[in-house]
Amino acid sequence: MNCEIICVGTEILLGDILNTNTQYLSQQMAALGFNVLHQCVVGDNAARLAEQLRESLARSELVLLTGGLGPTADDITKEVCCEVMGAELVLDEEELEKIRSYFERRGRVMVAENKKQAFVPKNGKVFANSHGTAPGCAIERDGRYAILMPGPPREMRPMFEQQIKPWLLEKSDSVIFSRMVRTFGIGESAMAAKVADLLDGVNPTVAPYAKDGEALLRVTAKAATQETAAQQCDEVIEKIRERIGQYIYGIDVNGLEFAVVEQLKKTGKKVAFAESCTGGLIAKRITDVPGASEVFEYGVVCYANKVKIDLLGVRPETIEAYTEVSRECAAEMAQGVRRLSGAELGVSVTGFAGPDPAPDGRPAGLIYVGVDSANGTVVRELNTGRGGEGSRDYNRTVAASNALHLALEELRR
Ligand code: ATP
Repeated sequence: MNCEIICVGTEILLGDILNTNTQYLSQQMAALGFNVLHQCVVGDNAARLAEQLRESLARSELVLLTGGLGPTADDITKEVCCEVMGAELVLDEEELEKIRSYFERRGRVMVAENKKQAFVPKNGKVFANSHGTAPGCAIERDGRYAILMPGPPREMRPMFEQQIKPWLLEKSDSVIFSRMVRTFGIGESAMAAKVADLLDGVNPTVAPYAKDGEALLRVTAKAATQETAAQQCDEVIEKIRERIGQYIYGIDVNGLEFAVVEQLKKTGKKVAFAESCTGGLIAKRITDVPGASEVFEYGVVCYANKVKIDLLGVRPETIEAYTEVSRECAAEMAQGVRRLSGAELGVSVTGFAGPDPAPDGRPAGLIYVGVDSANGTVVRELNTGRGGEGSRDYNRTVAASNALHLALEELRR
């Protein structure tokens, strides 16, 4: 089924806010197996919104809209959609009561304008808003649907997840199931070349993505039952494993940090970080994972050589002979933080984040990541080849990912 997304709001057109709703909905709809054909943004203008909606409904069975459901005069989405689709707006007493009690619970007075939000399309499907006042709704005409959702992501996402997704799945006579294969250490095009024949498959489909230095494959199957769809996905994943198994670090995991935390919990180990060029990014990523405190207690951000020496016990002779950006220094940093923290795994990073080359002429993007454990010390040298504008963020992300990946390899040894 084809679908498209229209986000309503002049503030998006002016660049005041980033249109994250489109990204979220595109990902969700693609994962459900819908073809997302177009995305667009329209300001708070009734004529332009009506024109866009007519155009979208002419080519797609489903049109998802966000924004413009608020109480003020410039919130026009519901009114315009009803007019275009020939639906009548009627007061929903139940919704009005919900809005009233929403204000009451917060000790606020409901203004008259809020009553506007309790009007819903007659014969339309209403989606309650558990995080705000504006309900969402679906309006149907000739087998085509406009689905209206509030603009704030904290209201829209739970509404989509809890109500619209099941409603969409109910409409479909088949189940869509997808799994995400995550790889590290292979580029997107090299990965795509190794599974090229699988990318032509129709059911399951296999789609490659690149994200933050990682290459991902989404495998999506459509079948009468979830069990069959899952089995179809697993058969394709088996073939993927045969081709690129050594690069796969997880299936359906949220990222390297999640895989590391899971593996640490499984093995009952703890990790500690000594970060120079990533400035705490690895610790940040690990603590993004709920429950990280079970496996992470200690991180050091050490830029000055004095700190590397005094706190971590890096030998001054090492820095003298090899500099602080070196295989040897990374090794001693990992050993030092492991000793200091008492964790089973010490992980280190030292390098040139950029954008400029180092004073001694070595390039931005030259980075060493190290891991020290009972098995000894391993150091990986990276050369991202990236300097200049935008390189700093990239180099630090890649450095953090490599350090996490090295830790994961060590934990799985
Ligand atoms: P409200 O009841 O809060 O007025 P609404 O449905 O009318 O909700 P808008 O007024 O269009 O929504 O947007 C409210 C806020 O929601 C915006 O200021 C912005 O912070 C956020 N928002 C709206 N659309 C988007 C979008 N496409 N992506 C990310 N955030 C958005």
